[in-house]
Amino acid sequence: MENKDYWFGLRSYMYVDIKDGNMLLYNTINGEYLETAYVKNIELISQLSDFNNLGFTLLSRENQKDIRIHEFVMNILNNGMGDILDVNSTKNKPVRLIPILNLQKDVDKLIKTENNCVLIGQDIYHYLIELNIYLNSLCTKECPICDEYCKQILCCTRGADFQELPIGVLKNVFDQVSFFVPKRINLLGGDVFKYTDIDKLSDLFQNYKGSIYLYFNYKNYQIHNLLTYINVEIIINFPVDNILLEKVFSSVCMSNTTFHFVIEDEDQYNQSKMIIKNFLIEKYILNPIFNNNIEFFSENVFLKKEDIFSNVISMREIFRNQKMNANNFGTLYILPDGEVKANMNTLPLGDIKSDSLLNLIHKEMIENTAWRSIRNISPCNKCLYQWLCPPLSNYEFVIDQPNLCDIKF
Ligand code: SF4
Ligand code: SF4
Repeated sequence: MENKDYWFGLRSYMYVDIKDGNMLLYNTINGEYLETAYVKNIELISQLSDFNNLGFTLLSRENQKDIRIHEFVMNILNNGMGDILDVNSTKNKPVRLIPILNLQKDVDKLIKTENNCVLIGQDIYHYLIELNIYLNSLCTKECPICDEYCKQILCCTRGADFQELPIGVLKNVFDQVSFFVPKRINLLGGDVFKYTDIDKLSDLFQNYKGSIYLYFNYKNYQIHNLLTYINVEIIINFPVDNILLEKVFSSVCMSNTTFHFVIEDEDQYNQSKMIIKNFLIEKYILNPIFNNNIEFFSENVFLKKEDIFSNVISMREIFRNQKMNANNFGTLYILPDGEVKANMNTLPLGDIKSDSLLNLIHKEMIENTAWRSIRNISPCNKCLYQWLCPPLSNYEFVIDQPNLCDIKF
């Protein structure tokens, strides 16, 4: 860079955030980033978003004499994050459009303008991606933290009272999803094999074009015709009954089965790895479970800065994080008593016996119990990585802490 006046601008794939005297420049194409707390650097970048500047601002000779500005701009240029153009050899001031999020159908805007009826009839049924149906609450096993699992991961759960979703209600649900097809329906219990009408389920599946998954604990495993044509999801928690587990492995069809290990500590993690190795399991998921094991969680689950930057985050994902929760969006839970929730940790939206799925989707879009819960509260709203960070998960709900990370302010 020679000592002359330049027009300076960032490339349009650069994401910028400024919080509390610190600035982040993030390249949404290759994941590289710069941070600065130098006020004159922040001023320089801030000028780019001034409406009158239209993405380019003057980088004067005077500015460049400041070694910290000079180094900062050189870093930007060397990393392909921005451009300079010689003012004297540029006829007109250059212009570059800066990406900003401005949704015409922003739900919050529509609610504020009392225009939420616009949402109705706008194909909102497409928003339903996944339906989790708890068929019954009956289970004779006694896993010690049974009611904790389902609040954190997709898992069976036992109820104090015996509840069962009547087959007629289930038929009505499957009639609805034959018109608008969520990609995935997960069936769970209690013990699904104790569902009174389990043998009638296959008739309901005839007109549904998505995929069906059956979840159950390995301790409840039974040979059943259903397991031959739908996806099987077997939950393994600790302590493991090795004899029972061996029987399950010798009987299930491994090609359509995924094993979900429920892990509370290092020892259970090591045991899971051993089981996976010994039984040549190819499809498995390791699920940490919070049970006041905060040390295990802070070491293995809490985010570190390098985790946030370990993958490239696209501009689309950054904008998405500002408007919706990708972990929750599009999922509904139907409980054995008919209650419907958008998340197992939130209040019910309605009752499947009296509400249509379409009404429930609409209700969630307006009431936002879970689908649009974003990182907009403290301390995340003061954090430079607010919109790069993965969406809130069930762990934040259960631990009752919005920031499961080691970022210090
Ligand atoms: S098998 Fe599932 S439903 Fe039964 S007690 Fe264990 S976690 Fe609860
Ligand atoms: S404070 Fe919130 S946004 Fe920032 S890194 Fe931690 S969890 Fe992510």
